[in-house]
Amino acid sequence: MEVDCGTVWNDCLELIRENVDEQNFNTWFKPIVPLRTEGDILTIQVPSQFFYEWLEEHYVPVLKKAIHTTLGPNSRLEYSVVVDSGNQRNPPVSVNYPNGSGFKKSNAQVQLNGNGNEDYSPFSFKPLNPQTVNSRLNSNYSFDNFVEGDCNRLARSAGVAVAKKPGVTSFNPLMLYGGVGVGKTHLVQAIGNEIKKSLPDKIVLYVDQNDFTNQFLNALQNHKMQEFQNFYLQVDLLILDDVQFLAGREKTQEIFFHIFNQLHQSGKQIIMTSDCAPRDLKGFQERLLSRFKWGLTADLQEPDFETKLAIIHNKMESDGIEIPTEVAEYLAYSVDTNLRDMEGVLNSLIFHATLLKKEIDLELAKEVLKNIVKEIQSDVSVDFIQKTVGEYFKIDLELMKGKLKKREIVIPRQVAMYFCKRYTQLTLALIGQNFGGRDHSTVIHALESVEDMMKTDANFKNSVDELTKKLKMRISGSH
Ligand code: ADP
Ligand code: MG
Repeated sequence: MEVDCGTVWNDCLELIRENVDEQNFNTWFKPIVPLRTEGDILTIQVPSQFFYEWLEEHYVPVLKKAIHTTLGPNSRLEYSVVVDSGNQRNPPVSVNYPNGSGFKKSNAQVQLNGNGNEDYSPFSFKPLNPQTVNSRLNSNYSFDNFVEGDCNRLARSAGVAVAKKPGVTSFNPLMLYGGVGVGKTHLVQAIGNEIKKSLPDKIVLYVDQNDFTNQFLNALQNHKMQEFQNFYLQVDLLILDDVQFLAGREKTQEIFFHIFNQLHQSGKQIIMTSDCAPRDLKGFQERLLSRFKWGLTADLQEPDFETKLAIIHNKMESDGIEIPTEVAEYLAYSVDTNLRDMEGVLNSLIFHATLLKKEIDLELAKEVLKNIVKEIQSDVSVDFIQKTVGEYFKIDLELMKGKLKKREIVIPRQVAMYFCKRYTQLTLALIGQNFGGRDHSTVIHALESVEDMMKTDANFKNSVDELTKKLKMRISGSH
């Protein structure tokens, strides 16, 4: 006897509803259309391959239980994945229970409609118009104003290659990584802008992980998952900035994994940035990390002195402002935190020069720097720091600057370097100079050691805190 598939499915839904929260129920089960029952096979229609995969990955036990209860222990479920806005359907993608549970990639194929265009949902498919889609790009970022240096050469060339032939090179995905302010966002935006200009039919989208996560959560809450996916799956170049923040966000990673796969399979370009190499990313599913490594991974380093100098000149020139060489050099030496701080300093200089009509000279540069880079205090001299630290640890100034590598001397020496970095405007190189001609890497090492020890050794941290108080007293006393 043929049973009405609508009734069977309604019974299933009742059972499913008991096991799934309302939001997920509305998102993943409401859109399903029961097609037919033949014997003990129920066929349901789902609106996309993605949808099918999602059900298979997350709801097999729930579906199985519901179908076995309503249609008997030997019953099976078949899917018909309809990814066409018209009425063409592919042969059902079948998944057999009980042996067939779990994610079966090989069973599913992306289905094309009659025109060979990929549509993803019969319900809410809206083709995007490349001319009107908001790409979220900032047109100020270009290759022209991205200064090339040893620190970014590989990443930049890869970016240029991808911009010429998105999705066609083997640099897919392109994963750029590096610390704060090394130019990741600038570079990926430049790629996006370039593609929009030279290939106006391509749909380009820049999102940072925050936008992506919020859109996704919004879609979930408002039962707009289909629209969300439809949108992303039509993008030709997807740029996801700062992926490291997806760490621990399992659901967002899940959806990104699916979007990533589908885009990649259909030859669309994906670009991502991260603050560290993929192998060092924590809180990511292994399968997602392995995808990140498919294409090309390229790092951007802190810019060297020459590159910084070129960036400063470049930026000032584009704003039509002349900056004396000595001022540019002073800034390239002194701002050794990151390029974002540099950007702040330069903007402030531009402000002074244009609105307050001040001449840009060393004095102005120093003043601006003092206001922007916190904790930089020019009143404390290296001498004073060395003396104060030396007295505290009871070692001679000579030893502090000397070559001896005994622990009881090395530690005070490192602490003094640490305070020089905090309380003077000196570059790392100049700090090193003041400690018996050591180089900047020795100073970096000292800073790291002090910070590490403060984390692990409470006594040591106490000493540093006491010294901080002593030095601060001097700083405020001298004002
Ligand atoms: P990240 O995304 O790596 O933190 P950004 O791309 O935001 O860094 O860069 C910080 C600032 O430094 C931006 O204003 C950017 O334009 C500038 N910048 C970074 N690298 C370069 C470069 N190579 N040439 C020109 N400007 C750069
Ligand atoms: Mg950035």
